[in-house]
Amino acid sequence: MSLLKLTRTANAGVLMEIDGVSILLDGVCEQLPPYLGTPAPIREKLLENMPDVVAFTHKHPDHYDEDYAKSYEDKTLRSVYGPESLPFLEVGGVEISAHKTRHIGKTDIPHVSFVIKGSATVWFVGDASPLSLKSMVGASKPDLLIVPFAYLITPSAWRMTKEIGAKKILLLHMPPRDRDVERLWDMVEATVESDILYHIDIGESIGL
Ligand SMILES: [Zn+2]
Repeated sequence: MSLLKLTRTANAGVLMEIDGVSILLDGVCEQLPPYLGTPAPIREKLLENMPDVVAFTHKHPDHYDEDYAKSYEDKTLRSVYGPESLPFLEVGGVEISAHKTRHIGKTDIPHVSFVIKGSATVWFVGDASPLSLKSMVGASKPDLLIVPFAYLITPSAWRMTKEIGAKKILLLHMPPRDRDVERLWDMVEATVESDILYHIDIGESIGL
């Protein structure tokens, strides 16, 4: 039985509840068309009900919100974790470790990916290039792998993604279908036929 609940709160971010610990990962962002931002009611909720841990993989605006990070730190006196502060944390029996990875494409923005280990192991890669996940190989294999579209839109990317060996995959960083100018949904659906793949819209929750 899994004690893992995920609520999508941003373009490429979730509020993860695992073994009673709440972890917000890339979970507040501005709208960066065609990608959606965090709706105001969700942002307010995340300010009223501060998660136990807030972490982000990198500072692109579709993954990170500085105002939210500042409010969180002021209100809780706890740090927000990111690429400049590589943490190993243990909160309520859940371990969170950051691994230096490289962002997809031509950018050298500092970037980390997270491994969360409780009653399930989750890899949250952010916008990491699949080729840069070698730094995570020492970590336990994921029960759940959380990835952006680049991991699924070509057959070779999908092969690499499958090789990671996750039991389940959650796809984030997708535009809504009616704004999908780059036809990412078509590409994903042409490449992947898999009953281990999940997707949720912003505001939706899933238990995995
Ligand atoms: Zn990015």
